[in-house]
This record gives sequence, structure tokens and C-alpha cells, in this order.
Amino acid sequence: METRNLIIIGSGPAGYTAAVYAARAELKPLMFEGHEPGGQLMTTTEVENFPGFPQGVLGPELMAKMKEQAQRFETEIISDFVESVDLSARPYKVAAGGQTYETRSIIISTGATARRLGLESEKALYGKGVSACATCDGFFFKGKNVAIVGGGDSAMEEANFLTRFAEKVYLIHRRDSFRASKAMQQRTFDNPKIEVVWNTAVEEILGVDVGHVTGVKLKDTVTGETREMALDGVFAAIGHEPNTSLFKGVVDMDEKGYIKTVPGSARTNLPGVFAAGDVQDSRYRQAITAAGSGCMAALEAEKFLAEES
Ligand code: NAP
Repeated sequence: METRNLIIIGSGPAGYTAAVYAARAELKPLMFEGHEPGGQLMTTTEVENFPGFPQGVLGPELMAKMKEQAQRFETEIISDFVESVDLSARPYKVAAGGQTYETRSIIISTGATARRLGLESEKALYGKGVSACATCDGFFFKGKNVAIVGGGDSAMEEANFLTRFAEKVYLIHRRDSFRASKAMQQRTFDNPKIEVVWNTAVEEILGVDVGHVTGVKLKDTVTGETREMALDGVFAAIGHEPNTSLFKGVVDMDEKGYIKTVPGSARTNLPGVFAAGDVQDSRYRQAITAAGSGCMAALEAEKFLAEES
């Protein structure tokens, strides 16, 4: 079996940037695109803060460009997702699509996934009025009443986006202040179609009996009072979980499951295993910081391989 120099697991801004750098260094990287090729930007609309695009760029378009750039320098891209890794001895082994690949180094850039509310009714009504992606599903709610749950930038962004379609958007938040940036908050407060519902948690999503969302049962987090609100759709925008299940017990992680890297580097606790992007960053979680850490990981992999040979 051929032993590869570098396998990159995951294909968001971190993975593609790592691929561009590693391929230009002639490491002939092999990338597994994973469950959600392109990562979270594939479900975003306008990205206004990625440098080099003064008029903004659509998330999927940005990812298509990154992929094209990675392929221009001959990154091999396989669209399978990785089923398991064996990091107990080197060369490391990566199993995907029924095959096993050996590699001298790995960059983990598997990103993070949107968190769910964790309700049985949410599961039952997923795709029937419940969604975690306003940009994917907003269109289906033309003229309807919907709710967004959350108080971060994603919740503000999605609430504003949904007003393009929905008649009314309730922004339900469990506390009495938002953690979103001031600019995003202001945009939300200025939007006449958005009504903020403070100090409120969603206890249940209603409509399981009829097979589509008809409303929510809400609980006031201060008084404990409950009430029902009629709705056609519910969107959760309550943060993310790192995609690290493949590496549990093998690669060191923090208490939230994010991969630990040596501060100021992309190194993990294992030699030749690097991590980049949201999978190791619960703080910044931006496309540009992910891309930057992808670059770091590739440069470190290059140095590691050079020192080893
Ligand atoms: P976030 O900042 O972690 O916010 C998550 C929100 O969901 C918080 O308000 C949290 O409430 C709430 N929440 C968490 N679990 C909940 C639960 N079980 N039930 C109800 N509410 C719950 O996540 P995010 O908004 O996805 O943003 C992630 C990062 O990406 C941030 O750094 C953000 O700045 C960045 N981002 C930037 C942009 C932009 O610049 N355009 C857009 C999107 C995201 P509490 O506040 O009470 O904890």
C-alpha cells in the first residue's frame, strides 16, 4: 500500500487552505471531503467579511473557488467521508469508502455542526417545519410566521434573512440580552418584521399529531409561566458542536470536545497530527481564522515531514 504524505480530513476553509499550501509544497495531499463538502459556508448566503471580496461573496461560491484553487495544485479530493482512523502507530491509517489509506501525517479539519434543541418533537418534525438552516429552508416560509431560537450572531443573521420570506419572525432567546455583535443586534432591532421574545425557552414543538409544525410551547425562564404560540416554522441557531467523534479518546480534546492544539500552533498531542479550523476553535469560528489555521497546519505538516525524512 502506498503511504501518503498527508491526508486532510474535512473540506471547509481550513481544509481547502491546508490543501492549497500542502499541494504547492508538493506533498500531494489527499483530501476527504466528508459529510458536508465545503462545510458551514455552504449553508450561508452573503459573506461580507472575507477579505478580497469588497462586494461580498456567496458562501457556496467562495467554497467552490477554494476547491478549484486546491485542485489547481493537484490536491486529490475524494468525496467519501472517513469511517475510522487508527492513530495507534505510524504510518497512520484512515478508512473511507471501504478502503484503508496509510499516511505519514494528518490534518483534521472536520469543522463543527449546528446544535439542536434536543427535543423529541424537534426530531419528529425535522424537515416538516423544523430546520437548523434558514438559508437552506427559508424560501419555504413565504408569508408565514416563524421563530428563530438563539441570541448569537447566527440567530440575528438568520432572523434577518428569514424576513425576506416570512411575514413575521419571532426571535426567542432564553436571557434578556444578546451575545451577538452590536451591529447585528442593531440590524435586528431595526427590522420591523422581527419581534424579540426575551427570557423564553422552547419547551416543545407542537404539531407532531398532524405531521407539521403548528406552534411551540414556551416557558418564561424568569417566572416559569408557560404559553403556546402559533407558528409555521422553527429554526434553531444555538451554536455548534465540534465534529470530533472519530478522534475521541485518541486525540486530546477540551471539555466541549474541541481538539486541543499547542497554543500558537496546529499541533495536537500526536506527532504528525494537526488540527485546523472550527474543530479546534470554539472562540473565533470565522472562515478567515479557519483558513489561517489551515495554512498553519499545512506549513507545520511540511516541516514535520521534512524533518522526518
Ligand atoms: P453562539 O455565539 O455560541 O450563540 C449561541 C446562542 O444560542 C446563544 O445566544 C445561546 O444563549 C443560545 N443557546 C445555546 N444553547 C441553547 C439552548 N439549548 N437553548 C436555547 N438557546 C441556546 O453561536 P453562533 O450564533 O452560531 O455564533 C458562533 C460564532 O460565529 C460566534 O463567534 C459568532 O460571532 C460567529 N458568527 C459571525 C457571523 C458574522 O459575523 N456575520 C455570523 C454568524 C456567526 P446564551 O447567550 O444564553 O448562551
